[in-house]
Formats: sequence, C-alpha cells, structure tokens
Amino acid sequence: MTLGAASRVDNIRHSLVGLKMPRALEMLDATLRRIEQGQIDGIEALDDLLLEELSLRENRRIKAALRMARLPVIKTLAGFDFSFQPSLDRNRIMALAGLDFIARAEVVHLLGPPGTGKSHLATALAVEAVRAGKLVYFIPLADLVAQLAKAEREGVLRERIRFLCRASLLVVDEIGYLPVTPGGGNLFFQLVNARYEKGAMILTSNRGFTEWGEIFGSPVVATALLDRLLHHAVVIQIEGSSYRMREHAALVPENLRANHLASPPAPPKRPGRPPMKRQDDHQTA
Ligand code: ADP
Ligand code: MG
Repeated sequence: MTLGAASRVDNIRHSLVGLKMPRALEMLDATLRRIEQGQIDGIEALDDLLLEELSLRENRRIKAALRMARLPVIKTLAGFDFSFQPSLDRNRIMALAGLDFIARAEVVHLLGPPGTGKSHLATALAVEAVRAGKLVYFIPLADLVAQLAKAEREGVLRERIRFLCRASLLVVDEIGYLPVTPGGGNLFFQLVNARYEKGAMILTSNRGFTEWGEIFGSPVVATALLDRLLHHAVVIQIEGSSYRMREHAALVPENLRANHLASPPAPPKRPGRPPMKRQDDHQTA
C-alpha cells in the first residue's frame, strides 16, 4: 500500500468511528485485503461493508423493539407445526402475517382450548410486526387490568391509555383464564374504546364470546366490549388438542382433555342479554 493509500485508509477509519459504524470498521482490514488479493473490486467492497453495518443496525433495532414489546418468549410462524392443528387454516394465518390487518386497525381473535397455540401464534404475528417496523405491545389481560387500575388509583389513567394507544398492534393474551377484578371490565372497555378503529389488536381466549359476561363480571360491559371488538374482526377458532400434553394425553382424564374443553361454548347463563350489534363484517373460521 502506498503512503497516500495508507493515509486514505486512516481517513476511512476515522470517518467510520465518527459515523458510528462499528461493524464496517471491524471489517475494513479484511475487506481491503480481499481487494488487494483481487477477490473483490471497490464496488463490491463498499456494498459488503454497508450491508454488514445495516444488518447489524437492523438486528439491534429488532432486538430493542422486541424488548419494548414485552413478548414473554420469542415464537415464530416457522416454528409452528400446522399439521398438529388441522382445524387451523394455515393460509389465513399466513395472510395475517402480511400485516394488512394492522393497517386496517382490525381485531384478530384467536380462540381455542389451552395449549392449542394461541399465544404462540399471537407472539409470532407480533414478531412479524416488529420486524416490519411496527410498534407492538404484548400483555396478558390480568396484567393489563392491574396496570390500568394502578394508573386510575394514581390519577394517570388517561396517560396510561394514551401510552397503550401508541402501539400499532396491542396483543392482549389470556382473556378468560382468570375472572377480571371488579371494575376491570370498565377499564378494559375504556382502552378498547380509545383504540377502536385506530389501532389493531390480537386477543387470545380459551372461552367463547357468550362467556364474556361472566369473565368481565357484567353483561353490559361484555356487550359494549364485543360491540367494538367484533366490528372489524377476524375470528380464528382452533379446535384441537393441547400441544403441551401431546406426549402425555393418555394420562389425562377424558373429561379434562382439550378436545373435551373445545366443545362448543356454553350458552349464556343470564337470559335477556341485549343482542350484539354491528357484526356485519365479522368473519369466522
Ligand atoms: P395456548 O396459548 O393456546 O394455551 P401456547 O401457544 O402457549 O398455547 O402453546 C403451548 C406450547 O406449545 C408453547 O410452547 C407453544 O410454542 C407450543 N405449541 C403449541 N402449538 C404448537 C404447534 N402447532 N407447533 C409447535 N409448537 C406449538
Ligand atoms: Mg396462552
């Protein structure tokens, strides 16, 4: 290398430090060697350095966004075995992975008995959204209600709701596993109403919609919630057995098997509930 070239390389190094391009800096010497040995030309070298730096940044961005999204574990669509859930239409899930539902601010309901992959699919769709640069927030319903109740006690409910409206995809997991604490249905309604037609949601539940009155402690609140949550909605019902128990299903008593729990949701226990409005464009599986 000539003296002039050596000082140019020093300049490049200096610039890469100034531009905060650590990966390109790290690769600089090896790339220059490959040019000298005639393995690549100048254009290819520039291309390699910039692509490496870009992919480092992209990975960092995704990692940070996944942390902000509070996903409990990372799951992917590639890691989902569709052959284990024949009732589930793979094409519908792959269409959701195109993320148009987020642009349309729709609500995706994933329904089914425990262990059928609802949280896995919700997480995998959330990961796709993060990769696509969307702001995502994942939270189990019980934690969400606790968060809203705390904010209300502290007089900052509006701010909390505003924060929860920032995400373009809000995933609310585990509706129905625990009854919602008193007042919780109302708080959840305020959030749902604030996001209505503005931001997309994915909801997972092991219970049918007819049971929401019980879950939220009030048929009036449940009706108001479902009114918003079924308006622009995609409902995906998984009717299968538990993936968690797949190797030990024979040990589980018949009346506790997922298939048993998957039987059609119980009819409403309280008569005289007002009928649901505006279900015109809601699709079912
Ligand atoms: P649910 O939320 O419906 O109760 P999960 O999504 O938590 O169920 O699934 C339970 C466990 O089984 C998770 O570890 C999940 O990754 C795994 N799992 C469920 N269904 C499948 C599947 N079809 N293919 C691969 N893993 C699955
Ligand atoms: Mg789950």
